[in-house]
Amino acid sequence: MPIRTIIAPEDVRKVCSEWRIERQTIAFVPTMGALHEGHLSLVKEAKASCDRVIMSIFVNPLQFGPKEDFASYPRMFQKDIAQIEPFGVDALFVPNAADMYPDGYQTYVTNDARSDILCGRFRPGHFQGVLTVVAKLFHLVQPHVALFGKKDYQQYQLIRKMADDLMFGIDVRGCPTLRDPDGLAMSSRNLRLTPEERRKAPYLFTRMQELKQRLERGENRAARLLQTFTADLAKEPSFRLEYAEIRSARDLGELGETIEEPAVLLVAAHLGSVRLIDNLELSTS
Ligand code: AMP
Repeated sequence: MPIRTIIAPEDVRKVCSEWRIERQTIAFVPTMGALHEGHLSLVKEAKASCDRVIMSIFVNPLQFGPKEDFASYPRMFQKDIAQIEPFGVDALFVPNAADMYPDGYQTYVTNDARSDILCGRFRPGHFQGVLTVVAKLFHLVQPHVALFGKKDYQQYQLIRKMADDLMFGIDVRGCPTLRDPDGLAMSSRNLRLTPEERRKAPYLFTRMQELKQRLERGENRAARLLQTFTADLAKEPSFRLEYAEIRSARDLGELGETIEEPAVLLVAAHLGSVRLIDNLELSTS
């Protein structure tokens, strides 16, 4: 059966509220399309969690800066539909930007404590754009469960905090990062790597794993670990490191000099025209 595609925000509200009247639980997977196995893993988790699954595809203009890749972000709607059809997704919401942000739009969601660190430092306004669109989608769909990838760790943490602080009553879940066999985290933007860049790309995750191994062998001074990581990454000059930080896995807060609690290594680096982000949870035991 062809997937039920909904364009108008009011229609998605109606469909989802009918499901709730029938006492069906709803899982929601928001995306920007150009789907890959990482997105599909969220759909599988959604199917296992609730009676109904709704996905959205919306390249949200609000989360792209003026010099970023909004215009060139990969869009492949027909291929996306073909990929999700076998999973029994109950509805696909594909809104227009003009309906989401009509003329005169004025209201935004911000988190001043965690929006300007890590990716936010280099992408001003990005997380305001993300939180605003996700809040709007949450209000339309009112899901019981919403699935996000830990691939975008800061995004996941900010959305979880928003849902908690603003009492959405939604179970926001973080799912593991899916990787290609050589370790590169799957991402829609990987499509834009040249074959040579694609060959080099896994170098980033290899260096991240080495940092984790050094921690496990007993070096727990964050500055030392990051120094070695940065020096090793620089041996592959195609990468331009934007940031590498170790923060609390609980709330992305800063840690002391040594790593004494569950932590996460978060990295962004440019490879050619593509900005890669990745992260790795670190255990201290
Ligand atoms: P995007 O379309 O890039 O906005 O991603 C939509 C959702 O898929 C977000 O929750 C992402 O964190 C998640 N996602 C993207 N890449 C991966 C991946 N490699 N593994 C798991 N989830 C992912």
